[in-house]
Amino acid sequence: MREIFGSNDIAMVGYYKSILDAEGIPSYIRNEYAAGLSELQGPAFYPVLCVDSDEDYDAAMALLGPMRESAANNPEQKEWTCPNCHEGVPAGFDVCWNCETARPVADVLSQ
Ligand SMILES: [Zn+2]
Repeated sequence: MREIFGSNDIAMVGYYKSILDAEGIPSYIRNEYAAGLSELQGPAFYPVLCVDSDEDYDAAMALLGPMRESAANNPEQKEWTCPNCHEGVPAGFDVCWNCETARPVADVLSQ
């Protein structure tokens, strides 16, 4: 198992999974049901798209990477910097891909 993409937007995660499904890459969404429970909040409970096999990770990223980059190139959706680990995070992520820190609210509001 390897994580591909995490977001609090289950629709986006599901959309990315459908792309992997269409390419025959086995994947699943972790926390798919926890995300619907209002008492479970925070990045630890966000739905996360994962590939079953580590060997599929590169192929999955090759498929989804350009889509995430096009979102990052949208001037209204800039890359943001994680306040915890200071990694650059593509605009499509609502949590840091590295440490799962949530995107700062002030950063979202400034866009
Ligand atoms: Zn981070």
